[in-house]
Amino acid sequence: MAASTNNACLLMKAMTVEIQDIAMPQVGADDVLVKVESTGLCGSDLHNYNHGGFGKPITEPLVLGHESAGTVSAVGAGVSDFKIGDRVAIEPTMFCRKCFNCKTGKTNVCRQFRQASMAPTHGTLAQYYACDADFLVKIPENVSWEEAGCIQPLAVAVQLAKRAQFSAGQTIAVFGCGPLGCLVMATARAYGVSKILAFDISQSRVDFAKKLWADYAAVSLARPEGQEYPEWAEAFKAQALAAAGVDSWGVDIVVEAAGAEPCMHAGMAFVHSGGTYVQAGLGRPINAFPTFSIVAKELNVLGSVRYTAGCFQTAIDLIARGCIDLKPMITAVFPMSKSKEALEAVRKGEDLKVVIMNQQV
Ligand SMILES: [Zn+2]
Ligand SMILES: [Zn+2]
Repeated sequence: MAASTNNACLLMKAMTVEIQDIAMPQVGADDVLVKVESTGLCGSDLHNYNHGGFGKPITEPLVLGHESAGTVSAVGAGVSDFKIGDRVAIEPTMFCRKCFNCKTGKTNVCRQFRQASMAPTHGTLAQYYACDADFLVKIPENVSWEEAGCIQPLAVAVQLAKRAQFSAGQTIAVFGCGPLGCLVMATARAYGVSKILAFDISQSRVDFAKKLWADYAAVSLARPEGQEYPEWAEAFKAQALAAAGVDSWGVDIVVEAAGAEPCMHAGMAFVHSGGTYVQAGLGRPINAFPTFSIVAKELNVLGSVRYTAGCFQTAIDLIARGCIDLKPMITAVFPMSKSKEALEAVRKGEDLKVVIMNQQV
């Protein structure tokens, strides 16, 4: 192996990252060593950074990053599907392949998965990263490294589309126009969904959604002080659906991609009876939720997390075939040496998608 340094962005404690040259990862017989080129950042990286870990604080420095792609630099003796120089995207969730959920195809909710950048498993925000060969998916030449740093979140949107069964003819409403909401809209458009409505509290994010993927986008109706959620949600729905030219009955599918309690109430009002509501935003762990409507409207209320078999390949195909153009979404690119600035940019929320170039140290 020619490489001598493996600089990585290490989370030291809450709000503190350092670039350090760490040991080159061991490459087992079934492993591939990837020279990582790009890493997208998302809200979960910010959570890791803000809190110094997920759940409980880290006890040792942890390499951040989980949305990465790069070039194969070395392969283990037992690897036959990859060769040095192959361009690959990294699936950061290492499922066990043995538990009930893995065996039934729900690898995204594996009982004992490990996740890159979730302690004690190091992440991908380093110059080099090693993993089992089957956690890599090849990328064609026409996908730029910047875009390749967004394949993982697009795969998350593809999984959501699978769960919600996006198809032509539907009308969907997306609450939250951040990276996840935008990727859901992009996927919905690629899948031929007929009408996409988008809502956010930020005018700039609404403008972005309108410019790129939404047929109708608006700032959420403000809730007057003292007004209960149901009353507000119905008023918001009546106003928005009229403005969007959608039947006042409601939309077929709602995707809550903000993790905000008001959006949950609005979403449950916007979806028509017999429709589907997907909770994708995280936000606070416990929220008030209009459970009565689940029963009365006989809704399919679903969660969607990570991705399952085929989602990465679909995401790559959508980009490579030009069905989804991620470039306008990538509004900031940082060298790895400026990882702290990149994390701070995610915090500010003015950029839609922030990508780090791992070899720029
Ligand atoms: Zn992410
Ligand atoms: Zn499993």
